[in-house]
Amino acid sequence: MPLTLYNTLTRQKEPFAPLNPPYVGMYVCGPTVYGDPHLGHARAAITFDVLYRYLRYLGYRVRYVRNITDVGHLEGDTDEGEDKILKRARLERIEPIEVAQKYTALYHKAMDALNVLRPSIEPTATGHIPQQIAMIQRILEQGYAYVVNGSVYLDVEKYRQDYPYGILSGRNIEELLAGSRELEGQGEKKHPWDFALWKRAEPTHLMQWDSPWGRGYPGWHIECSAMSIHYLGVPFDIHGGGLDLIFPHHEAEIAQAHACFGKEAHYQARFWIHNNLVTIEGQKMSKSLGNYITVEEVFTGSHPRLVQGYPPMALRFLVLQAHYRSTLDFSNEALRGAYRAYLRLMNAYHRLLQVRPHAYSTYMVSSWRERVFAALDDDLNTAAALALFFQQADDIIKLYRGELLLSQVDLELLLKTWQEVLFEILGLLPLQSVEWERWQRLVQLTVRLRQQARAEKNFALADCLRDELQRVGVKLLDFPDETLWEVGERA
Ligand SMILES: [Zn+2]
Repeated sequence: MPLTLYNTLTRQKEPFAPLNPPYVGMYVCGPTVYGDPHLGHARAAITFDVLYRYLRYLGYRVRYVRNITDVGHLEGDTDEGEDKILKRARLERIEPIEVAQKYTALYHKAMDALNVLRPSIEPTATGHIPQQIAMIQRILEQGYAYVVNGSVYLDVEKYRQDYPYGILSGRNIEELLAGSRELEGQGEKKHPWDFALWKRAEPTHLMQWDSPWGRGYPGWHIECSAMSIHYLGVPFDIHGGGLDLIFPHHEAEIAQAHACFGKEAHYQARFWIHNNLVTIEGQKMSKSLGNYITVEEVFTGSHPRLVQGYPPMALRFLVLQAHYRSTLDFSNEALRGAYRAYLRLMNAYHRLLQVRPHAYSTYMVSSWRERVFAALDDDLNTAAALALFFQQADDIIKLYRGELLLSQVDLELLLKTWQEVLFEILGLLPLQSVEWERWQRLVQLTVRLRQQARAEKNFALADCLRDELQRVGVKLLDFPDETLWEVGERA
């Protein structure tokens, strides 16, 4: 069965096929680097990391472009407000480029910890000003934009005569207008829904460049159109981002692509894919509600809503446990549950490594493997795929204890599926560290000493050893003939 993906543009799941196989071009809107990476960043990055990993697993040669927005993203949605980078530079009393570098580095650090692969190309908006100017010029030549006082705006009314505006978001301009505050006060724009391609800069504005229209800086939307098309051509295969970017950002990108390249641009990308947002205990995440949680706070446990710090894989697991198009509700309990679930699967995996093959199988592997991949092919349903691993986790102890049997071939297939899906495609990391081997040996030794103490009826010593093991996060599973151990929460 082929991979199907939900296309926001057509509002249905469609079989994925690249425009130029085996190549796949994928562009995902990256962070505006003016603050610490938060849970929303983590979810988007992990979602598209899994898609990137899976496309590569399927044999495609993927060029994955994820940008860094380091200029032009204003606080308001309608071309007003301060540039987010400049505001941060003013508050921290540093240069705008220091802001961009500082928060780009923090973003990389957080995403590396979450085992998110770096994209093939990570272009910055400030590094692609000529491409943006060229695109704006061509849009002007086609008659879909106008210049006022050194700023350039896309003429949505003119565009609408030739193309549908609102096709991605399903928004209707008339309704938008009815809901908007007033028609006046839009300054130099012809219509309130027009948006800036280029903004004139005051002499004191810190980030500005020469252009055919005078000194200024690019609008946020043109950056992504220019950078994606520069590296991937138009149309390309996949454009991704968070749900909150559909309007106006992605709607504007489609308009710019058509206005520049005509109908050939074909909505800029074949598939438009959007991940849903993170809520915090049922509420929208926002700085004003005080529930804005950074990735670093999850790791250290320093946010008031968290009881303790959690390792990066707990957060990655939490994200994977929800389908990317569902909301993900974050809480200390949900994260703790994800951490336990992650440990449970990793314990099962380490147990699986110790299973010995038999001459024949009493356990079905190939049909289970097919169901796992069917889940991934069904619009990347990582939640359903993980559920299938949980169902199996219980059977692995039985396989280990010889209550269920596997042939060499089946055992290899089972192990291969665990490794391919959990580590290669879902990007989880096994319980391993430099100390892991030594730690394992010490635990095994302690477990054996406890067994010996019990055999000698020295129950005081046996209980003491069990309590000490529990304290370092080792859970014991006593069977009549042996004691198995697992890594518990505190390890
Ligand atoms: Zn973008």
